[in-house]
Amino acid sequence: RPVTRFAPSPTGYLHIGGARTALFNLLYARHHGGSFLLRIEDTDRARSTDDAIAKIIDGMNWLNLSPDKPPLFQFARADRHAAIAHRLLAEGKAYRCYATAEELEAMREDQKANGLPQRYDGRWRDRTDTPDLPFVVRLKAPQTGETVIDDQVQGRVTQANEVLDDFVLLRSDGTPTYMLAVVVDDHDMAVSHVIRGDDHLTNTFRQLALIKALGWPEPVYAHVPMIHGPDGAKLSKRHGALGVEAYRDEMGILPEALENYLLRLGWGHGDTELVTRDEAVKLFDLDGVGRSPGRFDLKKLESVNAHYMKQADNQRLVDLAAPRMEALLGAPLGADSRAILLRSMDELKPRAKNLNELASSALFLVRNRPLAMDEGAAKLLDADGKALLAETRAALAAVPSWDREALETAAKAVAENRGLGLGKVAGPLRAALTGQPNAPSVFAVMAALGRDESIGRIDDALG
Ligand code: GLU
Repeated sequence: RPVTRFAPSPTGYLHIGGARTALFNLLYARHHGGSFLLRIEDTDRARSTDDAIAKIIDGMNWLNLSPDKPPLFQFARADRHAAIAHRLLAEGKAYRCYATAEELEAMREDQKANGLPQRYDGRWRDRTDTPDLPFVVRLKAPQTGETVIDDQVQGRVTQANEVLDDFVLLRSDGTPTYMLAVVVDDHDMAVSHVIRGDDHLTNTFRQLALIKALGWPEPVYAHVPMIHGPDGAKLSKRHGALGVEAYRDEMGILPEALENYLLRLGWGHGDTELVTRDEAVKLFDLDGVGRSPGRFDLKKLESVNAHYMKQADNQRLVDLAAPRMEALLGAPLGADSRAILLRSMDELKPRAKNLNELASSALFLVRNRPLAMDEGAAKLLDADGKALLAETRAALAAVPSWDREALETAAKAVAENRGLGLGKVAGPLRAALTGQPNAPSVFAVMAALGRDESIGRIDDALG
């Protein structure tokens, strides 16, 4: 049973690339009946913050990507990492390097001048003296042969070991490097599948050298291409590489929409378009992950979101739209207003691409009387419009049961009487009820508002 993990560095928000990595890890684990873990790689003490940790966990919860166990914090395990470095030292698989920063700088200058690749030259690899000076611990990396990664996405990737350097495991202050910490933690968490961005592919050769030195089992690797912007360049803030909370809070995107969009951005299964989480679990595997980078397209995300808005549960949409409406109104929404919203949701939700549009399109329903009339609405309520509205009011007030069909029938009778189309009658009515010329079906609006509020609004308009 596979064990996968998401291993973010808490130095910023959970961005969409990270969210997609987490999603792929979760889906892979679920598909194969394994588990999905979270490791917070907080070893960079200067850049890691509690706020970033909170945002990552919050974003994962929102996207329904919670790990199967509480997260493991990497920094807390520094002693364990150091112990492993010392084990390698004792086994002769690592060594102390006493080279000073100045010496290493001179070495690199020299290499540069001679057109050689700049990497540590192994000058302490075979020395046996142990001066009383600060030292780092370096891995005795293999110098011959090659390292092969049978990557589940990239295919077979090979590197000659002669390009490997004896990289640092422990710094001179005794703290572990990222390379050491990742390998030890993946081993201790029993991670069997490392699914991550392909920006980590080159690290993998080093990590494998370390794993081999330790005699540990090698995980399966899958390096997923990074997300690019619509122009093909690596995704940056300019392209919308925002924290997932910006999609939630600022853009009003539903989590299942972002999930599906991210899933399809890098994974495919025939012509499968939009799937539920259960279906994704059933279908997801690494052979469906593409080798070319997906291009992030905000318009596409919005259209996926519009699709999920239509399908979303009405009460849930009321709950999601309400705080946005309260912010726009500067006042809390009462139970009556929420009930009106709920009754209107079938009409409202197909017209909104996101929760912001939903909230603003629904404001007219809950505003206090008398409604402000916009220019288009005021035009419809000229003298002729008002005369027609007065006649319609009388017909509506006489309707025995205040439901959509009955209201429409009554308005139709007025139109027929006058030899007009229903649209002509609905115009001033809509203006009176909504304060705007365009809105969902005016009969649905009246049914949602109820008799008293509807007649009240009409009377306000009639003055
Ligand atoms: N902490 C690394 C990052 O955020 C990921 C390391 C890994 O997945 O192995 O890029």
